[in-house]
Amino acid sequence: MDRRRRRWLKTSAAVGAGAIATGTLSAQAQGRSDVLFAREGSFIPVLGTSQQFQVRRIYCVGRNYAAHVREMGGDPDREAPFFFLKPADAVVETGAAIPYPLDTSDLHHEIELVVAIGRGGSEIPVDQALEHVFGYAVGIDLTRRDRQVAARDKGRPWDLGKAFDRSAPLGPIHRVGAVGHPERARIWLEVNGQPRQDSDLRNLIWSVPEIIAVLSRSWELRPGDLIFTGTPEGVGPMEPGAKVRVEVPGIGALENTVRQDKP
Ligand code: MN
Repeated sequence: MDRRRRRWLKTSAAVGAGAIATGTLSAQAQGRSDVLFAREGSFIPVLGTSQQFQVRRIYCVGRNYAAHVREMGGDPDREAPFFFLKPADAVVETGAAIPYPLDTSDLHHEIELVVAIGRGGSEIPVDQALEHVFGYAVGIDLTRRDRQVAARDKGRPWDLGKAFDRSAPLGPIHRVGAVGHPERARIWLEVNGQPRQDSDLRNLIWSVPEIIAVLSRSWELRPGDLIFTGTPEGVGPMEPGAKVRVEVPGIGALENTVRQDKP
């Protein structure tokens, strides 16, 4: 084993030595005996109710605002939407202080409209897609940009850039019954009080019904699924200590800080 490989293994052993998380039993685990490593799922409050939305999966759309496609060096012509996933336990609630992630020196923010699915289905037609939506939230697709770009340039999966721990800050869910289906609304993000991203939902290349229709051709959607719908232009880095605020008026706001101490 060469020295570099040995050093890498030593590092990863140290990182992996954290305590195993414990928690109350998830809904699925209740009623079972001898559950190993049972943990609580990810829950997001539903605004104006005492309900908690249990997150099943997090789907994300890539390149869905033309000006952002251009800033990433792409061509915004309408190619089919494409998807990546984040783990459900990557959800972070508003107000939380997020440790600067491992394995990056270029943590980026991406504000996004998030769709919460309340009714499952596969091969959902566009004209029925909105019937599957439970509500909407605002979220941040945190990105290890250095890892994502390296993966992209080598034709490798995006997991290292996108699917890391605490990579999905998420505001409370607003029920469709309360907010309808937003098509036009400002979507903005600021870091330390400085505006960074400012666009409008009407600039989405692929609409929410189109995204649901295409996504459900490849996966059976289930209640509890979330879809991050893509970010507008203005993505950029956040340093340790950064305070990020985002809002889609009517759909909520979200505020998090990046902790001062780097791991
Ligand atoms: Mn994104």
